[in-house]
Amino acid sequence: MGDHYGDVKVQLGQMKSLGEDAEKEEVDPEEEMPVSSPSASPDPTGCITTAPGADALSTNICKQKGKRSTKNPCGRPLQGFPAHAVKNFNSAICDQTLHIKGTGKILQGKSAESNGNYVGVHESSNTQETRCEDEFKLPRKRRPVTVDTSKAKTSLEALKLSIKELQWKEFHTGRRAACDIYWHGVSFHDNENIVSGQVNKFPGMVEMLRKINLSRAVRTMQELFPEEYDFYPRSWILPEEYQQFSTEIRMVKESDATESPTFIVKPDGGSQGDGIYLIQDPGDLKLVVGAQAKQAVVQQYIHKPLLIDKLKFDIRLYVLIKSMQPLEIYIAKEGLTRFCTEPYQEPSQKNLSRVFMHLTNYSLNVQSGNYVHSDSQNTGSKRTLSSVLYRLAAKGVDIKRVWSDIIALVIKSIIAVLPDLKVHYQADIPPAKPGPTCFQILGFDILLMKNLKPVLLEVNSNPSMRIEHEQEVAPGVFEYVPSPVDEQVKVGVIRDTLRLMDPLNKKLTATPQPKGGGSDPVEVIPADGDSQGRSPDNADNLPPLCLKQVYPKYTKQFNHLRLVERIAALFIRFLGVKGNMRLGPTAFRTFIRTCKLSNSNFTMASVDILYIDITRRWSFALPDSREAGMGLQAFVEAFFNLAGRRFKSLALREQVVSLLDLCESHLGPPSGAEDRRSLSCSRVLPRGGRTRALYLPHPRPISPAVHRRATSQDCRPHQRPKPRTLRANVEN
Ligand code: ADP
Repeated sequence: MGDHYGDVKVQLGQMKSLGEDAEKEEVDPEEEMPVSSPSASPDPTGCITTAPGADALSTNICKQKGKRSTKNPCGRPLQGFPAHAVKNFNSAICDQTLHIKGTGKILQGKSAESNGNYVGVHESSNTQETRCEDEFKLPRKRRPVTVDTSKAKTSLEALKLSIKELQWKEFHTGRRAACDIYWHGVSFHDNENIVSGQVNKFPGMVEMLRKINLSRAVRTMQELFPEEYDFYPRSWILPEEYQQFSTEIRMVKESDATESPTFIVKPDGGSQGDGIYLIQDPGDLKLVVGAQAKQAVVQQYIHKPLLIDKLKFDIRLYVLIKSMQPLEIYIAKEGLTRFCTEPYQEPSQKNLSRVFMHLTNYSLNVQSGNYVHSDSQNTGSKRTLSSVLYRLAAKGVDIKRVWSDIIALVIKSIIAVLPDLKVHYQADIPPAKPGPTCFQILGFDILLMKNLKPVLLEVNSNPSMRIEHEQEVAPGVFEYVPSPVDEQVKVGVIRDTLRLMDPLNKKLTATPQPKGGGSDPVEVIPADGDSQGRSPDNADNLPPLCLKQVYPKYTKQFNHLRLVERIAALFIRFLGVKGNMRLGPTAFRTFIRTCKLSNSNFTMASVDILYIDITRRWSFALPDSREAGMGLQAFVEAFFNLAGRRFKSLALREQVVSLLDLCESHLGPPSGAEDRRSLSCSRVLPRGGRTRALYLPHPRPISPAVHRRATSQDCRPHQRPKPRTLRANVEN
């Protein structure tokens, strides 16, 4: 495969536009920033111009209207690529229609502008006061949006550049008065004292995206929608599924002696490749560290990845969850690709430990003598995603399909973790609390298989936003030097995230919730931040958005997957005590009674037994949990069990849908704003069958009970201990 692409000469048109002087005087944090025209001047071609002080590269990979064919988005010719490749690429990234993998269907986007009413948005009193003043002094100029960057950690440089471009105001040591936006480097809890504005992290995201919890969440979805969730490699949770894992592998080997499947073992909560190793025999698992059983995920190793220049690579894609309720997801049109530094060979006992061959982590490969730091987008060990896609397009690959599959993978993954996130959210920001609201940039790590199918490796809650890297400038002397590839991609993502979150420019339209799934009462679509990439802030001098809305744009295609969210909505409804994340036995009984689920065959005594049985198993699996009761995952297991009893003749998915319909019919819609807010994760509403094994034969679906035997931080008590590893800004 590497040879196949080896002779392709890659010459991406590189656009260098001159940047402003890097160093401008720091503004006194408590002084109002003068409102003037933005300092970053647009490239005459309409491309994103330079970030101040660095070698600037165009960040816009999308075509502009009227600039097609062999010109890139900036209107410059793309050297070295045939016209069909460029056309394919442009349409893949920018078009409104996308294929749905395996179905032959095309994702048909709905224009955001078609949606109806405007919804008012809350502003802090601080905002309103300042606005009055500014309106008096500077008619037609609005006050700058304020951003607290005191907790930004390694995102700081990229964030500063973004704020400067937007002419917003930075408070780098914090501020006594409230800010509009708080930028945290690690988690929602970096600063506990925020009651208004917007924070760039959701509560519970770090915990939910740990390897075990992500695997569990995807697995639940695989039980319900096996065909739709075949993008995640088969995984087992250690130590409790060790027996199951070794039995399955033994059976595979016995049925075919030539089979020698490989597995990758990843410590839970690990990052940057730390502690990862490959095995071909379950006996090689390191189950214990010191006296403690090691929490890890063991996963099918994708042994036939797509190669470029004979090297394995993966994709880092930036995804913005702008809001959880209603769900709004944006995908960055530009991403990064990280290359291994040793030519790939299929795994064998001889090469299993060659990390530079098998692991694409930047943090590992940068230590190899072969690592190439590049200031160009299309060479070196870290490249832009667009340069790789151009290259594939040049070889005739159906890039549109690949991009469509990637979008589907992203939306489905987020749908899988949403239910737990909603439980975390209501616990940390209960309805009585005025705010803040949340948004978050996630880093999706995706591997392309040789057959071009994208596979989800992991999702990072804190993707690195560093725009410089360490370099040995003289023997033994290391310095941070700018990394143009990182800067090009990451500054665009942060700046455009800020633009989309601009609290002074939220014109929202409400549209009715599509029937048949999801719990959102209305889908709210920003009228102006549409998928055509137009600026949401009327700032003509800013480039088109590099973030593309994919949800609710593709609601129709994915809404049916939002079943577990409906179970979570029931769970939250019966939680009762504010800040609680566990259901007590009385609340569980109330749920059964209210939904009329008991009868002569299933008495309240049986209900109690079910509750005790499931809760006990989960508490064994959660040795560090301090809060008693039934967490969401345990409740989902109980729900599946109840659905199975009630609708025996149906398949699992239909059982669950039928039980949900039944429960909801007894409950009716949430009454009033208070109820709605209890499910709300972003306060934009007015206040008030077949899992296709990637190469291992997939065993029969395992019962939910077996699936959910182990630790899950989603069930952590409200007074949660700090997550074991909260690494800031994972580059990988
Ligand atoms: P970490 O958080 O430590 O970076 P990842 O899950 O991202 O852990 O895995 C590290 C690297 O290992 C990935 O970047 C990828 O190159 C490789 N990898 C991970 N999972 C698989 C897999 N299932 N098959 C093949 N390679 C994998």
